[in-house]
Amino acid sequence: MKYAPLDNYINGSPVASASSPIQVTSPVNGEVLSSVPISTPEDLQAAVSAAKTAFPTWASLTLRQRCEIFYSYRNLLQDNLDELALICHEENGKTIGESKAEVLKAIELTELACSLPNLVSGESLEVSPGFDCSIQTSPLGVVSCITPFNFPIMVPHWTIPMALALGNTMVFKPSEQVPLSGNRIAELLTEAGLPNGVFNVVHGNKSIVEAICDHADIKALTFVGSTPVAKAVYTRGTSSLKRVLAMGGAKNHLIVMPDADLEHTAANVAASACGCAGQRCMAAATMLAVGDVDHIVEQVVEQSKALIPGENLGAVISASAKSSIEKHITEAEEQGATVLLDGRNTSVDGCEAGTYVGPTVLDNVTPDMSIASAEVFGPVLSIIRTGDLKEAMELENASPYGNAAVVYTQDGQIAKQFAKQASAGMIGVNVGVPVPREPFGFGGWNDSRFGVGDITGRGSIQFWTQSKKITSHWID
Ligand code: NAD
Repeated sequence: MKYAPLDNYINGSPVASASSPIQVTSPVNGEVLSSVPISTPEDLQAAVSAAKTAFPTWASLTLRQRCEIFYSYRNLLQDNLDELALICHEENGKTIGESKAEVLKAIELTELACSLPNLVSGESLEVSPGFDCSIQTSPLGVVSCITPFNFPIMVPHWTIPMALALGNTMVFKPSEQVPLSGNRIAELLTEAGLPNGVFNVVHGNKSIVEAICDHADIKALTFVGSTPVAKAVYTRGTSSLKRVLAMGGAKNHLIVMPDADLEHTAANVAASACGCAGQRCMAAATMLAVGDVDHIVEQVVEQSKALIPGENLGAVISASAKSSIEKHITEAEEQGATVLLDGRNTSVDGCEAGTYVGPTVLDNVTPDMSIASAEVFGPVLSIIRTGDLKEAMELENASPYGNAAVVYTQDGQIAKQFAKQASAGMIGVNVGVPVPREPFGFGGWNDSRFGVGDITGRGSIQFWTQSKKITSHWID
């Protein structure tokens, strides 16, 4: 094993679990990196107890005092950028460049938490002569955060800095497929001065997620993952009267109009579909080609060919992910799609045990094919030909998901109409991965998000706090 076996991280230190661990294998080359515990309810109880004990003192600090720690933590992320990026690359399979970008985004998210004193200064008003109303913001208590494999560092930071800086204490459950980053985040938070027990990591899979949903002392949770699990977590968590925000899967549509800028559009479409090996909830999985855009399709294929597995295209997470992606491609071909670029059976010299899928472009996909609706989660672009914008919008609107939708055009009127009619929470106009930068909140619609509000930005302030309204009258 390259790294020591992982423990849970409870009350400021690693704590062994009594459970049997599972192996953590690198998708880059099949190397065994570590092992991760599949925690028990007793492990969760230890973490919740630590978080509950830490809460009153942590919550009693001023917001400024808590934010001081996140200034230090932000600098530690910067100082340890290369090491964090390497861990992310090894456990997730994405390239070093993509991994560094992920850490930089985590820094941006931490900076938003550092600016909280400027964002939540409160309100006060004399509502009638001698009567004052004011609002105080209070944390919720012990909260939880459950994350997927595809962004081991960025997605946890959607939640951790804001929830903690606002005065909550936390039990974090990372994906068991990428657990190493979680422990490193915990160590850096401790090094930054976070008091013991404020942040705890409990590893595991389905059973520990269910135990988190059911635990009476956990007041709120965010979940990010696939739609079926997001729905189950939302239902189970809210039925035990928690505040829950559960982000689900996606199938993003990208409409290309004939007037779109050739070079920009082609490069952007290929990067959106294949970046992070297509394992992004914001990836453009389906291109809706409006009218005659053959010149753009040709160029998308050329741009995609420039993505070389093991060089500027990372691995997919596991052997089972690779075989599921390849099965989707084969089914689409059997159902009549034209394979313009085929990434099946890809192997990287020197990394034969790695799990790579090459860039794949499928043309003449039709809405009834299974690939048109399934979340493939690999570097695969499906192109559906449509006669006009109306037909393309109908297809976009018919998707049960609603994370992102993108239009490529040079016509402002079309862009405006598209933004108004698209059934998605994040819209791109000539931008292939329209992730809002902070402080704009990240959040989809429909089956891509269960619960109210965005998971980042100003929405997260409301999610992680409750307000207290104080009416005062002092008698002369
Ligand atoms: P996943 O749903 O399999 O797992 C997510 C988390 O849930 C993990 O921590 C896992 O241990 C746990 N889990 C898995 N199965 C469970 C079950 N049956 N019951 C309870 N918990 C369970 O997701 P993944 O494969 O790790 O991540 C990829 C998915 O995440 C994709 O669908 C992607 O679109 C989605 N995603 C969505 C967003 C968003 O913001 N909407 C962001 C990133 C990823």
